Amino acid sequence: MHEVPWKEILHELKKLGAGCVLIQSPEGLRKEAEELARFLGENGIEAILHGEVNYGACDPADREAKLLGCNALIHFGHSYMRLHLEVPTLFVPAFARVEVVPALEKNLGEIKRLGKRIALVTTTQHIHKLGEAREFLEERGFKVVIGKGDSRVSWPGQVLGCNFSSAKVEADGVLFIGSGYFHPLGVALATKKPTLAVNPYSGDALWMNEEAERLVRRRWAQIAKAIDARRFGVVVSTKKGQLRLKEAKRIIKLLREHGRKAELIAMDHISYSKLEGFSFDAYVVVACPRVPIDDYENWRKPVLTPREVELLLGIRDDYEFDEITGVERNEDEPLGIAVHGVRE
Ligand code: SF4
Repeated sequence: MHEVPWKEILHELKKLGAGCVLIQSPEGLRKEAEELARFLGENGIEAILHGEVNYGACDPADREAKLLGCNALIHFGHSYMRLHLEVPTLFVPAFARVEVVPALEKNLGEIKRLGKRIALVTTTQHIHKLGEAREFLEERGFKVVIGKGDSRVSWPGQVLGCNFSSAKVEADGVLFIGSGYFHPLGVALATKKPTLAVNPYSGDALWMNEEAERLVRRRWAQIAKAIDARRFGVVVSTKKGQLRLKEAKRIIKLLREHGRKAELIAMDHISYSKLEGFSFDAYVVVACPRVPIDDYENWRKPVLTPREVELLLGIRDDYEFDEITGVERNEDEPLGIAVHGVRE
């Protein structure tokens, strides 16, 4: 369970004069969303629960909130992302109730193998523990560097599955704190530095570089499968934080200049099953980088990232992970509000 800063949320909504709010939540925070809806109702604010699945701050339901006549959105589970939002949005991230120092202590021997100067990164869930981790490491003689990151992330040291800007600092190696494969794999690929992932839940540590090499080999196999493809479907997502129309058009131009045919396809949630019926030989996903990389086994046709298209066409020769870099926000747009009170 996560604690929800109910009073802080209510205070922010009152400040906004919101009479109706849409509450968007990932699967793991549905109960909290329900309780919050009840609490807001008791305090004179009409709340509507959003029932769609949500994977990231890149997909705020602000359009739906407006359509439903709500004048605010609560986006649970993810940190604030700079986007052009149609209604004021409260981003309420969920911080994990787990200590990180015991796992660091247990793996000190492995951490030493990273070198003296360490870049320290983590995901939103553990960002509130980054200071403690830094202190622990500095007391043991490490020089710890926490990168600022670009405007897509909310905090220094935070990485997203599509953005590793805070890991790209001058360091001997990168220490990732968190669970799961995708983020530390991305860190290893984006920085090309020795990367150690320390899992605060299990206490295990895992070197990511061999896994990253395996992933690159799998990706080269996808590129090889697309080598004879003549017709490409270039897929963009209409999710606000994944929409990369300019990049998709650049890829279409590149493909056409190299004698291939290419058409633009727009989707909300991208999956191969929805594309059955099109006759393209291969696809390029210019949206969340996790789609082609995590999900390629479910695609019957080769599926590439934009950078992999450049490899296919011989424009580049080194493998690079696909990333979405920060965007600038118009100053007159309603601003997303970060409510960072969800902590132990
Ligand atoms: S684009 Fe993908 S990796 Fe990035 S925040 Fe959205 S779901 Fe996460």
